[in-house]
Amino acid sequence: MATMTLDQIKKVYPNGFKAIHGVDLNIADGEMIVLVGPSGCGKSTLLRMIAGLETISDGTLSIGGDRVNEKEPGERDIAMVFQNYALYPHMTVFNNMAYGLRNRGVPKDQIETSVNEVAKMLELDHLLTRRPSQLSGGQRQRVAMGRAIVRRPKAFLFDEPLSNLDAKLRVQMRLEIKKLQRSLNTTSIYVTHDQVEAMTLADRLVVLSAGDVEQVGTPLEVYDTPASLFVATFIGSPSMNILEGSASGGKLALANGELISDTNLEDRDLYIGLRPEHLQITENPEEKQLTMKVTLTESLGADLLVYGTLADSDQQMTLRVEGHVVVEDGASLPLTIDTKNIHLFDRETEKRIE
Ligand code: ATP
Repeated sequence: MATMTLDQIKKVYPNGFKAIHGVDLNIADGEMIVLVGPSGCGKSTLLRMIAGLETISDGTLSIGGDRVNEKEPGERDIAMVFQNYALYPHMTVFNNMAYGLRNRGVPKDQIETSVNEVAKMLELDHLLTRRPSQLSGGQRQRVAMGRAIVRRPKAFLFDEPLSNLDAKLRVQMRLEIKKLQRSLNTTSIYVTHDQVEAMTLADRLVVLSAGDVEQVGTPLEVYDTPASLFVATFIGSPSMNILEGSASGGKLALANGELISDTNLEDRDLYIGLRPEHLQITENPEEKQLTMKVTLTESLGADLLVYGTLADSDQQMTLRVEGHVVVEDGASLPLTIDTKNIHLFDRETEKRIE
C-alpha cells in the first residue's frame, strides 16, 4: 500500500524564506493528487520535499505508514518525471529506460522484459535504439515516463511534465497520462500551474497560495464551492466574475443598485461571485437580475465570450454564451442568474460565506 501522509510539513529555505507553512494531506493508495497554484506558491518545493530532493524543515512525511523524512531519494521508492525530461543524451531509449533497473542490479533478462513491456504500453517499441536527440518532444516525454514506470515505484511525482510541449500535444499527453495512471493505479502527485490540466487529471486538487493550502477537494467540489476568492478566481476559465455587493434588507444588492436575489444574511458588505457560464441573456425584461454593458466580444467557435462592465459601474464582467448568439459592442444586456450558482465571499477575510 502506498498511502502518503503529510503532517504539518514546513519548508524554510536557508535564507530564512518560509516557502511552505504547514501542509496536512492524506493521500490514498492509487490516488492522483494535483498540486496547483500560481508561480511561486510552493508547488515544486512541496514536491521536491516528497521526492527527497529538498530537506523537510518540520513535520512528518510518511509513505506506506513509514516516516521517510531522513531517507535518501533513492530509498523512497518514488519515481519523478520532470518537465525537462532529464534523459541521458548519449544513451539509447532502451538504455535510458533500463538505467534505474541496472543500477539496482535487476537481472538482464528481467530488465529486457520490463523495458519491452513498458515501451509497448507507451508506443515506444519502434524507437528503442534511438537517442533522445532523434525524438520529438512528445516522444521524449514518453521515454521519461517509461523510465519511471519500469521501476514499478510506490508513487509517481510529476513536475509540470507537459509544459515544454505545444498545445495540441499537451492535450494528447494529458489524456495518455490519465489513462496510464488509471491502468497502473499508482499513487501520483502532479504539479502544474495549468488549471485545465489540474481539473482534468486530478482525483483531488490541492490549491496552494503563497505556501498555504487554500482548498483540497475533487475538481467539481473546488469548482462548485470554491473556499475563497483566491480559489474562485484561480479555478475556471475565463475567471469567475467578482462584483462588489452587499446584503441589505433581505436582498443581495450589486454596487449599481440592482437587486439580484433574496438572502437570509444580516446586512453586510460582500463579494458576489458569478461564473461567466452561469449568466444568461434574457428576452424578458421582467426576469432581468443585472445589466451588463458590452465592450467587445470574442468568438471561440462553440462559445462566444462577451467582455464588458456591470452597468453604471467600472466593474469588469465576462459572459460566456452559445457561439451563435449575436451581441453588439456597446449593447446593454439584461441578464439572469441561476440563483444556486451565486457565490458569496466575505469582504474582509475573502473566505466563502455558506
Ligand atoms: P513555479 O510554478 O514558478 O515553478 P512554484 O509554485 O513551484 O513556482 P517554488 O519553486 O516551490 O514555487 O518556490 C516557492 C517559493 O520559494 C518562491 O517564492 C521561491 O522564490 C522560493 N524559493 C525557491 N527555492 C528557493 C531557495 N533555494 N532559497 C530561497 N527561496 C527559494
